[in-house]
Amino acid sequence: MSFIAPRFSPPERILMGPGPSDVPRRVLNAMAAPTLGHLDPDYLAIMDEVRDFLRKVFRTSNEMTMAIPGTGSAGMEATVVNLVEPGDEVIVCVNGVFGGRLKDVAERAGAKVLALEAPWGETIEPAAIASALEQQPGTKAVMIVHAETSTGAHQSLEEISKLVHDAGALLLVDAVTSLAGVPLDLDALKIDACYSGTQKCLSCPPGLAPVSFSAAAVDKIMSRKTKVQSWYLDVSMLKSYWGQERVYHHTAPINMTYALREALAIVLEEGLESRWARHQLNHEALRAGLEAIGLKYIPKHSLASLNAIHVPDGVDEAGVRKRLLTDYGIEIGAGLGPFKGKAWRIGLMGASSTRRHVMTVLAALEDLLKVSGGSAAASDVYAKQ
Ligand SMILES: *Cc1c(COP(=O)(O)O)cnc(C)c1O
Repeated sequence: MSFIAPRFSPPERILMGPGPSDVPRRVLNAMAAPTLGHLDPDYLAIMDEVRDFLRKVFRTSNEMTMAIPGTGSAGMEATVVNLVEPGDEVIVCVNGVFGGRLKDVAERAGAKVLALEAPWGETIEPAAIASALEQQPGTKAVMIVHAETSTGAHQSLEEISKLVHDAGALLLVDAVTSLAGVPLDLDALKIDACYSGTQKCLSCPPGLAPVSFSAAAVDKIMSRKTKVQSWYLDVSMLKSYWGQERVYHHTAPINMTYALREALAIVLEEGLESRWARHQLNHEALRAGLEAIGLKYIPKHSLASLNAIHVPDGVDEAGVRKRLLTDYGIEIGAGLGPFKGKAWRIGLMGASSTRRHVMTVLAALEDLLKVSGGSAAASDVYAKQ
């Protein structure tokens, strides 16, 4: 007899974790469009459009801007392995999980890493960067996370960028949880290499990593003495596929590219400034609500896209998270590393940053924690707008 597969029906969730965020129907529908060949002229035109949209969303005129197959981590790996040659001295800022991963990737690429650490939840001070640059005068690159999703800390980059460039180094930035949710302007900040992911503030399914390299970064890559350790992520070859030559490198994830095209179109139609303001407003409302019910934020400088809070003593961290999922269909994130079992991470990213999401999660938490006053406090914030 023939095989009959069980019914396939992933449930509808409300995604408020550290990513993925809710994906608009318009993006999902775009994925269902006919698959084209990766060298079809109609597909190449879509690639050009994606590149153009990406430049607008990154706020850059960088020629070398593209979407790399793989998730945000592929973007991390691609930026680091292209920029770093074995023996290069680099500074990696570590104040959470993702800084730790950057350090690991840089070491695997053969870099000599000076790790500049700050306690989890805190940000990196410009003075600390200045002294690290003094300590290691040959530094070729400084790597830092803009939005540390493991702690909710929002890193400011202006002063750091100046210090790094004055020292003649390149600046590499992880913008996975900031792109299209938190103000970011690659050219104004003179960022040399930046990567992001699709499933956070872009509200697209996971699967592509937007990356961008400045002219100075491209110069460094093109004058390498050694080949990039990764064949798949070597941007000097990827460049020939995304550029006018159109040389086959890999079979592009065609339908994911459609999804990203649509997600970027949504961002540009809303306008970056309005989108940043929407993220900020919903964050302030959620924050007022959470603080009104006694929940405290972990970082001093919180991201608008990710709210990391301490779980109060005596509350069953995993139990509440499980009931949010089963009783309300709401996904939030757990703590990582030192915050395991001690923190919740509530994402307000892209399509998940709405008044409806804020009020729903507050009502659910009031119910599960047997407290009140959160929704009213959030409502006041909206009323003042
Ligand atoms: C999610 C995330 C990553 C990794 O992205 P994946 O898509 O999970 O591979 C890297 N950096 C930061 C800051 C992130 O939030």
